[in-house]
Amino acid sequence: MTAAAVSADDETKEGVMAVDLAPELLEILACPNCHSSLAVDHEADELVCTNTACGLAYPVRDQIPVLLVDEARRPSEG
Ligand SMILES: [Zn+2]
Repeated sequence: MTAAAVSADDETKEGVMAVDLAPELLEILACPNCHSSLAVDHEADELVCTNTACGLAYPVRDQIPVLLVDEARRPSEG
């Protein structure tokens, strides 16, 4: 992964990643299933639980993380 370049302008560029959550926001978010912290998966546009034993991936819709276990994508098993 490359480091994200933060630009000061408000212009939206084509191809910009959909998930652009503030680090401060990410810090206060926690997995509703196991209360571990979450990490942004820019490729999948998801918030992924950092607890490998949990590993649920939550979708982000319109920049709003949907932190619902029912909405989460469960890790493939086996
Ligand atoms: Zn979790």
